[in-house]
Amino acid sequence: MPKSNEQPKVNMEDIVALAKRRGFVYQGSEIYGGMAGMYDFGPYGVELLNNLKKAWWKEHIYDRDDFYGLDSAIFKEPRVWDASGHTTGFSDPLAECKVCNTRIRVDKELERIGVTADEKMSETDLQRLFDENKDKLKCPKCGAKDFSPVRAFNLLVKTNMGDFTGDGFDHPVYLPGEACQGIYLNFKNVVDTTPARIPFGIAQIGKAFRNEISPRNFLFRTREMEQADTQYFVKPHENKAAYDRIKQARFDWYIKMGIKPENLNFKQHENLVFYASDAWDIEYNFPSYGFDELEGIHDRTDYDLSQHTKFSGVDLSYTEPTTGEKYIPWILETSVGMGRMFLAFLSDAYHVETTSGDDTRVVLKLKPELSPIKIAVSPLLRNKPELVELATKVYRQLKTTFNGVAYDDNGNIGKRYRRQDEIGTPLCVVIDFDSLDNHEVTIRHRDTMEQTRVKISDLDATITKQLAGF
Ligand code: ATP
Repeated sequence: MPKSNEQPKVNMEDIVALAKRRGFVYQGSEIYGGMAGMYDFGPYGVELLNNLKKAWWKEHIYDRDDFYGLDSAIFKEPRVWDASGHTTGFSDPLAECKVCNTRIRVDKELERIGVTADEKMSETDLQRLFDENKDKLKCPKCGAKDFSPVRAFNLLVKTNMGDFTGDGFDHPVYLPGEACQGIYLNFKNVVDTTPARIPFGIAQIGKAFRNEISPRNFLFRTREMEQADTQYFVKPHENKAAYDRIKQARFDWYIKMGIKPENLNFKQHENLVFYASDAWDIEYNFPSYGFDELEGIHDRTDYDLSQHTKFSGVDLSYTEPTTGEKYIPWILETSVGMGRMFLAFLSDAYHVETTSGDDTRVVLKLKPELSPIKIAVSPLLRNKPELVELATKVYRQLKTTFNGVAYDDNGNIGKRYRRQDEIGTPLCVVIDFDSLDNHEVTIRHRDTMEQTRVKISDLDATITKQLAGF
């Protein structure tokens, strides 16, 4: 049994180190020195990521009756980004260190020293705050206090898909600054081809790219990301009750999936974009730097469908089938970066426990449905053919019933348990010499470290029960 559940404070470095050590996340292009804001998910990371996506998808598409799924193309006709306001207004405030040319994101640097600021403030207001606090602000790289004036820096990433002029950027297309635009573009398609009737939602997990000025905090702020978005279409002015319900449902989902309630917060936006009627963030208490935005919940009124109606010339209004009433629906949005979600779940599951004496173990207490591996099967000794033979048989048998079964014969049994604890594997099954005679194996529980002996013939049923009990 673990001796103490008291948690030492977890740092971001601990999480980054575990992610690397246990094959969850690697720095992108690492062998070339890495690329800022880019990460690759390793064998266990991609499992956790996919399990999170599956859980999110199940919540909206399988467990509800009023949601439809979508997977829209990354590239979009460039006018989409004019209509959405991204080509002109999708920017963050930037200033440049006059000594070493390091670029800083002004609102975030102000926040860091305790000044309330955000990217939606006007350039003039941000410049005023920047000037008022210039004694406290210094370049994160060289420490100088001499900066260029604040200017808006557009975050859209341009590319030359379909441009054969040779010089690349005569007719740029854009990588999506946010994934949700694909949902607006397909609103009419979904209404015309499914039984969808307002109110209803469309859910999508899609790629987005932002030229973030200073990618930071590991997976928190990256330049390439996946966003899990829902857009809920309601009748004009019938937004309030649905918004409150959606906001609470997203908060509750994190708790249902295992996040500790004390690590979650709601925060209302003080500055709204001109078309929004309300906006809240669900914040998570990230290691080392505290509460920050995990997911945004936005009440966007009729802005998106009105803009695309105007720019495309296609009427995106909706007609009530019973009354014939015609209107542009209002939209309630939820949007979360899968990397941020991954980081929140990884950090929340990370526990350090004292086991015996001064011995400690790191254990990822993920819910089994999120764990990359559910069951690790081992022979007690890897060099005893009779143990290996039976362990392989048990492994193959379990694989026919469960997803996420791994065979692990690396190192001694103690090391295997430690490694599987760090990966978050709920159950380890070990085949020893007694198993050859009595056909019983040991199941070791990740959280209690308790071991039970079980007949091989009862293994499926016992594992099903134990997994359900986490
Ligand atoms: P921030 O203020 O942190 O820049 P934002 O308000 O611009 O975020 P939105 O445009 O509302 O974020 O995006 C919705 C969600 O997408 C965010 O809540 C976050 O989970 C995720 N997200 C946004 N930018 C990034 C990024 N650079 N890296 C990882 N995830 C991101």
